[in-house]
Amino acid sequence: MIGLRFESTERIVPAVNLYFYNTMSRQRELFEPLSTDAVRLYTCGPTVYNYAHIGNFRAYVFEDILRRVLQYAGHKVIQVMNLTDVDDKTIRGAQEAGLPLCEYTRPYIEAFFDDIRQLNVEKAEHYPAATDHIPEMITLIGRLFERGLAYASDDGSIYFNVAAFPGYGRPAHIDLSGLRAGARVAQDEYDKERIGDFALWKAWDADDGDVVWDSPWGRGRPGWHLECSAMSMKYLGESFDIHTGGIDNLFPHHANETAQSEGATGKPFVKTWLHCAHLRINGEKMSKSLGNFYTLRDLIGKGWSGREIRYVLINGHYRQTLNFTFDALAAARTTLARLDEFSDRLAVAAGSNAAGGLPEWAVKARTAFDEAVGDDLNIPEALAALFGLVREGNAALDAGSLPPAGAAAVAALLARWDTVLGVLSFGRPDPDAMPAEVRELLEARAAARKAREWGESDRLRDAIAVLGWEVRDTPGGQQCKRA
Ligand code: AMP
Ligand code: ZN
Repeated sequence: MIGLRFESTERIVPAVNLYFYNTMSRQRELFEPLSTDAVRLYTCGPTVYNYAHIGNFRAYVFEDILRRVLQYAGHKVIQVMNLTDVDDKTIRGAQEAGLPLCEYTRPYIEAFFDDIRQLNVEKAEHYPAATDHIPEMITLIGRLFERGLAYASDDGSIYFNVAAFPGYGRPAHIDLSGLRAGARVAQDEYDKERIGDFALWKAWDADDGDVVWDSPWGRGRPGWHLECSAMSMKYLGESFDIHTGGIDNLFPHHANETAQSEGATGKPFVKTWLHCAHLRINGEKMSKSLGNFYTLRDLIGKGWSGREIRYVLINGHYRQTLNFTFDALAAARTTLARLDEFSDRLAVAAGSNAAGGLPEWAVKARTAFDEAVGDDLNIPEALAALFGLVREGNAALDAGSLPPAGAAAVAALLARWDTVLGVLSFGRPDPDAMPAEVRELLEARAAARKAREWGESDRLRDAIAVLGWEVRDTPGGQQCKRA
């Protein structure tokens, strides 16, 4: 339904302007939320038939960055991520394992939450499971019948009539000229070559075993696409701000969601669509079906941390494919160590001083960072601003030209940036983190040196050495490292 209008366009003035590339318009647009109280965000979630792989986590980490950038810009976010706990794959998996569906999916749901915690992904406000929302899906099918967009096939399944819905194919920009009237697709996942009426409700057959619900159209189970329409509108309203997913979700899943929702409500479904490109490995999409994947636990088992994996996943623009390599993980480890060292140096230089004004080079870096995150989530550019800050900051510390209040201000800026990046303070390896005791001794030693109490300064250096840390005096002040 091209031409539908969103109801409310009240404006709020965010601290940072955000521009997003909207898949629907194929343009970079200034983001303006539909209402002032919050940004409503729907993110397609995991199908819980197995452990998610790091390709899936590229999508969830991109969505986490989006959420964090919205918050950074002053918005409250209401995010929903569905858990697909009934579809062709979960049913097949449960049958092969000889378990009831909910017992089969439960450990994978728990593993998913464990994994996103390890990746420092902020939790969404709602994680609705498909099996808890069958009545909402049945109501939605009823509305599609009322509007002449649903019909029953001979076996009792219910299909969406694509030809009866003007504008089918959005936001995927699908050319419908090759559409054959009456072609039907029953399976949950199908490809671009197979445009056709898709199942809203699948009549029970023997393959479904005991996975079955009653409906006004007979016993069966919902089609995969329906859950996202029903659950997004339940928690976010019939029109909401942003919907995301990996690019493979764009067609048919997001086209079908849009058709179901707009077909039922007559209102525009989503204002801004964002899709992330794939994580690849050896030049191919990482996927379960190709078998070329690593789960998070595979990589953690090889000695990499969630923090390092997160860094690799954010270190590329979300709309560009990213190639996963172990070299990239090794580089992440080195980079994070450098960031940790800088952050420790700032803490030592700041002591217990309150933050003062930012030095000019940090103000410039702040402008660059804000522009980068506002420019369609350009995290590589934001990281470039961060490295610029580290370079300038280290030079100023070496030269002794960063006063304690300035160091405290730069440290506070880093902390604010980390509300977006989520890699600086989280999951730092303990052995490298400076204990509070060492930090206090360093502060006391800085004071002793200022007062030219050299004997006390040497005594404190020895006390620090006893704790396993080595202090060096440079023109820029003390530098302290694990011995
Ligand atoms: P699924 O569990 O297959 O529905 O996928 C969950 C999410 O991961 C969806 O948003 C997919 O688009 C996304 N996804 C799957 N594979 C990849 C990949 N290799 N790179 C990036 N995102 C992916
Ligand atoms: Zn979805």
